[in-house]
Amino acid sequence: MDLIVRNVRLANGFPGEPVDIGVAGGKIVAIERGLAATAQTYDAGGCLACAGLVETHIHLDKSRIIDRFPPERGREISPMQQVAALKKEFTVEDVRSRAERTLTECILNGATRMRTQVEVDPGIGLRGFEGVHSLIADYKWAIDIEICVFPQDGLTNYPGTEELLVEALKRGAKVIGGAPRYDTDHDGQIRRIFGLAREFDVDIDIHLDVGNTPEAMDIHLVSRLTEEHRRGGRVVVGHMAKLSTMPPHEVAVLARRLADIGIAVTVLPATDLYLMGRDQDHNVRRGVADANFLVEHGVNCSLAEGGREAVAAMLQGSAAERPQRILQALGQCHEALTAEHDMSMLPAREGQAEVVEPVIQRRTGDADAAFAHIGEIGQPQPTRWMLLPEDDVLLGPV
Ligand SMILES: [Zn+2]
Repeated sequence: MDLIVRNVRLANGFPGEPVDIGVAGGKIVAIERGLAATAQTYDAGGCLACAGLVETHIHLDKSRIIDRFPPERGREISPMQQVAALKKEFTVEDVRSRAERTLTECILNGATRMRTQVEVDPGIGLRGFEGVHSLIADYKWAIDIEICVFPQDGLTNYPGTEELLVEALKRGAKVIGGAPRYDTDHDGQIRRIFGLAREFDVDIDIHLDVGNTPEAMDIHLVSRLTEEHRRGGRVVVGHMAKLSTMPPHEVAVLARRLADIGIAVTVLPATDLYLMGRDQDHNVRRGVADANFLVEHGVNCSLAEGGREAVAAMLQGSAAERPQRILQALGQCHEALTAEHDMSMLPAREGQAEVVEPVIQRRTGDADAAFAHIGEIGQPQPTRWMLLPEDDVLLGPV
């Protein structure tokens, strides 16, 4: 054996006393108590061992711009316009260094797979793509990074964007995304994204259906095209805040359709809690799709917090201007989050990932709470797993 991790707890199958894990040739070859073998040993101190975490939705190219982004005042805000102006000045080196800092934090907190959104358009060109792409090989020892290129500021209404998307796909972007909300022609953008996905045989991951009412939802066209293009299992829709404005029996019908077709949903609670409900000054809606409900109806779901730094920057404004009075954004490692709102999304249950609530607990003032780190970055780790205090996170298949 090459490595023995002693004194670990596992989520399933080994209740009670800690066990030892033996590794040979990069694979787990033994799990038992008091493993009788000699090898390099690491004492996990009774922590929980689990598969690495998956960051399904992050914007590395826009992370850590909090110091360049004056807080927006009032209830009517437009974060994309502010960032659009900023990103003209982004250089490849600037993007890389900011992205690298965030990536490092993600790795140290247990992420071993990541899909990062990266925007391309004539304003940023391919500089964001190049800056993030340069990190893939350098950090391959620790994390698999997948780039999803997408038009943040419109596709059909922003000449030159499509050519850049095509170029990024030729250069190795594995996923095509979209943001039809910021396009004058929602349907046109969605159809073009499906066209590009077919042309380059890549997966699709679209920001979709953020809004205060269930009207004019784009998910219906995305569903039809996923069927027509036979891309079930290769399409993800992010946000879906409009689901929170629909009665449960209607969400159930839609959820079963998504499950049948093979469309997954990524819920982004931090962003949506901040952005939604701004039309209400009392009895404010949460605006967050109920991931638990979707899971119960067979939909493959993940939780993520996209654009964390941008959200954090937005949150610097007056507390009274925030619909749900969140004090800070969830996501950045060193920033505390206090939510005066019940953000628990997934009640703990056997076999289901429960992440949001413990993360918030850890960020709400418990000075002893610390994020589990897999080690010092810069040194290749022999096997990809992470260790967490046993009662920190309940784990299931992610
Ligand atoms: Zn996003």
